[in-house]
Amino acid sequence: MPDKIDLEKLCAEKGLRITDQRRVIARVISEADDHPDVETLHERAAAEDSRISIATVYRTVRLFEEAGILDRHDFGDGRARYEAVPEAHHDHLIDVETGKVIEFVDPELEALQKQIAEKLGYRLVDHRMELYGVSSDRKN
Ligand SMILES: [Zn+2]
Repeated sequence: MPDKIDLEKLCAEKGLRITDQRRVIARVISEADDHPDVETLHERAAAEDSRISIATVYRTVRLFEEAGILDRHDFGDGRARYEAVPEAHHDHLIDVETGKVIEFVDPELEALQKQIAEKLGYRLVDHRMELYGVSSDRKN
């Protein structure tokens, strides 16, 4: 697992006003390593401060996303999932049965994607790669 990103610090760097509730939400996101959705973030944030409403969580994730410090993912189940923008790029493998998300980096894959873009006449500036799988040690 990569180092935890300190979202609260990033907020300060981006000049975002940080309220007590936003601070709790920022900490909950920073501490998560499971790419939680808004409902899950709300549960965790409300456990620390019961005044935090789901609407506040929605507003805050949108604010963080617009500030470029939060990544939104769609892992195929129609729920937006969030993680602090990582310092180093990684891709995701999603277990379609459990919803578990595994992070990986593959240098060959990174190079290949660059080559494909170049072949098509582009300089690659970003990409998203999501693999969907069923565990091979699944017992039936
Ligand atoms: Zn991730």
